[in-house]
Amino acid sequence: MNFSSPLFQYNPAAGSAGLQKRIAIFGSTGSIGTQALNVIANNPERFTAEILTAQTNDELLVQQALQFNPNCIVIGDEKKYQKVKDALANTAIKVFCGEDALEEVAAMDCYDMMLAAIVGYAGLKPTLKAIENGKSIALANKETLVVAGDIVMQKALEKRVPVIPVDSEHSAIFQCLVGEGRNKIEKIILTASGGPFLGRKPNFLVNVKRDHALQHPNWSMGAKISIDSSTLMNKGLEMIEAKWLFNLNADQIQVLVHPQSIIHSMVQFEDGSIKAQMGLPDMKLPIQYAMAFPQRIVNDLPRYDFRKPNTLTFEEPDLKTFRNLALATEALYKGGNMPCIMNAANEIAVYAFLRNRIGFLDMTELVERTMNKISFIEKPTLQDYFESDAEARSYAASIIQM
Ligand code: NAD
Ligand code: MG
Repeated sequence: MNFSSPLFQYNPAAGSAGLQKRIAIFGSTGSIGTQALNVIANNPERFTAEILTAQTNDELLVQQALQFNPNCIVIGDEKKYQKVKDALANTAIKVFCGEDALEEVAAMDCYDMMLAAIVGYAGLKPTLKAIENGKSIALANKETLVVAGDIVMQKALEKRVPVIPVDSEHSAIFQCLVGEGRNKIEKIILTASGGPFLGRKPNFLVNVKRDHALQHPNWSMGAKISIDSSTLMNKGLEMIEAKWLFNLNADQIQVLVHPQSIIHSMVQFEDGSIKAQMGLPDMKLPIQYAMAFPQRIVNDLPRYDFRKPNTLTFEEPDLKTFRNLALATEALYKGGNMPCIMNAANEIAVYAFLRNRIGFLDMTELVERTMNKISFIEKPTLQDYFESDAEARSYAASIIQM
């Protein structure tokens, strides 16, 4: 970590039309998107919402547009375009539709910061477009860095664009690094709640169904990340996300299960000193921190109280049972296009599981077989990443079809 990192390239005045920061929320109808709008609604003097995008939920998107009066919105599903357009006919809000529109609006001048809150690979291209256009990024969409972290961070460095993490663990690490200047990190300790199946073994997991896997003990999140949390793939994706955000080697990243989710992650420096960021689990905190950085803003979220009876515990993750974390660690060490391949197979696996097409443990098998099958590329170009993603998806889908 040093000041040439895209994390700290911050100029609060850059690109801003006035005192308010103009936010573009890509994925505004999701768990992160709706919480971000809540932060904006509570801080109208600081933020405006200028772009909102959603894939399918047209009704919520229209409702959000009427409440926040953005410059423009995008509905991904083209079949819903006319309905959205009609609903907003009496407003000046511009309405776009389809996948390409996401990149087009990401290039617009009407905003300062993109909150990248689309889920999955679909977030990559709009985020790259925003960086190319010099926009600050508040990054929730971890898959963007898993797929093409080297290219994304390099582009951010070239454009002097800050990439501020929203993921709670990475926000914690970021907060621990503020003020540390050039002090080197010895390692980071990424905490994991362990998900709903902590302590369970394969003979239990084999029978797990979607509704049970969607029940996370500490966080309420979108479906994909909830399943990833139940398989520990989420922590694997976060290891790779951390590598790129904080410019770390694979062996500087350690995962520790901490079921209470009070310590959101820690940094150990070269003198052995460890800094932690703590608080009750609520994504509004990392969201508002990223949006308001370098300032902290007042809120009335519940506070953690050390005086109440509570125990903070820590244990090693069970890599034999939760093999997704072992596979992700392998992808982290291997580098190249392996994390991209793993991510694509995982997306296919998670959506197949959510549709009850495959079992809980089949998700891991699908990811492993795809990682073994697709050609490895050590130094991929952006085009290589696009192709590896497509190949891995089609191979994983073909296994499910068998
Ligand atoms: P979600 O499923 O609740 O919302 C996803 C949003 O993306 C929706 O607005 C949806 O319309 C949009 N979207 C989905 N597919 C799309 C596509 N193909 N093209 C364009 N838009 C599409 O997801 P979420 O839980 O809010 O997570 C969003 C991202 O933030 C994920 O990458 C996740 O890993 C990350 N994240 C979420 C949390 C959390 O608490 N929810 C915490 C940390 C990180
Ligand atoms: Mg997280």
